[in-house]
Amino acid sequence: MEAVVSLAKRRGFVFQSSEIYGGLNGFFDYGPLGVELKKNIRDCWWNDMVRRREDVVGLESSIIMHPKVWEASGHVAGFSDPLVDCKVSKQRYRADQLFFAAVVVDGKTIGYVSALESEKTVEDLQAAAEALKRKKAVQGALAPVAAKDMTEAQPDEIALIPSPATGEPGSLTPPRAFNMMFETYVGPMRDSSAVAYLRPETAQGMFVDFKNVVDTGRVKLPFGIAQIGKSFRNEITPRNFIFRSREFEQMEMEYFIHEDADWAKCHQEWIEWCRQWLITVGLPESHLSLYAHPKEKLAFYSKGTVDIMFKYPFGVQELWGIAARGNYDLNQHAQASGKPQELFDEATKKKFVPHVIEPAVGVDRIFLAILCAGYAEEDVTDEKGNTEKRTVLRLSPRVAPVKVAVLPLIKNKEQLVGRARELYAKLKRRYAVFYDDSGNIGKRYRRQDEIGTPWCVTIDFDTIEKPGDTFTLRERDSMAQRRITEAELFALLEEQVY
Ligand code: ATP
Repeated sequence: MEAVVSLAKRRGFVFQSSEIYGGLNGFFDYGPLGVELKKNIRDCWWNDMVRRREDVVGLESSIIMHPKVWEASGHVAGFSDPLVDCKVSKQRYRADQLFFAAVVVDGKTIGYVSALESEKTVEDLQAAAEALKRKKAVQGALAPVAAKDMTEAQPDEIALIPSPATGEPGSLTPPRAFNMMFETYVGPMRDSSAVAYLRPETAQGMFVDFKNVVDTGRVKLPFGIAQIGKSFRNEITPRNFIFRSREFEQMEMEYFIHEDADWAKCHQEWIEWCRQWLITVGLPESHLSLYAHPKEKLAFYSKGTVDIMFKYPFGVQELWGIAARGNYDLNQHAQASGKPQELFDEATKKKFVPHVIEPAVGVDRIFLAILCAGYAEEDVTDEKGNTEKRTVLRLSPRVAPVKVAVLPLIKNKEQLVGRARELYAKLKRRYAVFYDDSGNIGKRYRRQDEIGTPWCVTIDFDTIEKPGDTFTLRERDSMAQRRITEAELFALLEEQVY
């Protein structure tokens, strides 16, 4: 993870926001390469989800909506995470990310230990338990720790659990609900009547505009409304780089189906669609898994939620949530606005409120997954037998920020440079390409490897001296080289960059 974060900074993918002022926790900027990678992720999703389908249309709703939207959706009352305070250090923790365990020796509890969620939470707790046993000089057999999170702590246990900040018990508060919506004021008044919220999800835009789309969009069930845009959540503990931030971007789609449709089948189809899509942008299938939320943890209206999980370096975590939400949201808005959100069924001559399947994913989480899966350091041996390390980002050509680097073999040979410039200008009209004439060719290849450029083309003496006008095409992953014509290069790009 450290290597990925360091590369992201070094090569201009991601910067800390407001870095010269010390940064602002939970906010990030995307640099010149990051912005290209992010745009490619968005474009691939939009093309595949909206343009290449006949049953999904797009939408861009405003970030600040009428506050009643968020009352009706349940966010004002219930969009919260459980928060635990440490009264001594003033640190705050998400209760479901703060773990504790009783330290049991020969069947007797001698104290408690705590640890923040990580890929080795249980090991951390076990080590802390052993340390506590030593500190208290208790003899006997230490039982393996049974980790629980703070939402499971009994009232009499809370005072005994040490704060991760101080290591001492007695300062943690019981968990309480913390609403994650960012509040602001609309207009010149700063009173309660002017309170509005930055949206915590883009989905409500699709529900609120449902009727507008139906009345204007020539859509027929089943159909989807998709949106890409920023969302804001005042996360208690933003962490793991861009995985959990306070300002992030979502790509969400609401797929409306008849109330009598086979929702479970539709749900399954969307889960598989999303999984396959992730593979097309370069995520290895081996890193993806599915997690079905247990029935008892679902919201009362939810019929089922399955998350596509990704194996990040810090653990297997949610990447994409696919929820079957029934017709809860449309009903809520119908009730709160007094405007029915129904469709007319020609067959039964009855009105009904459609149900919905919602695939919701974060662009930033895909971005991070792509960087983590693509990052590799490997030993390579050159023709002279020298071994060196190369850092390579194995990005899919679909999302790579630069598709091709155009490299004249040397920069002071007019004919070479002329041909290279001509090719560069042509490629640039369609693709993100990079022109580089500085340094030896090996170094230039390495620079491109590190930012994930799938191909380099070198304009060399054979290009100008031999018939055929061919270039050296060098592939990032295999490092293999072959000769290619301009037409073949365009054909390759046409096939791989879509
Ligand atoms: P988590 O349990 O990780 O907080 P969630 O279940 O609340 O996520 P959803 O409300 O289902 O997330 O949001 C849909 C998607 O938006 C998530 O699958 C994730 O990809 C993305 N997302 C949610 N919160 C964040 C965040 N704070 N930073 C980056 N991406 C996020």
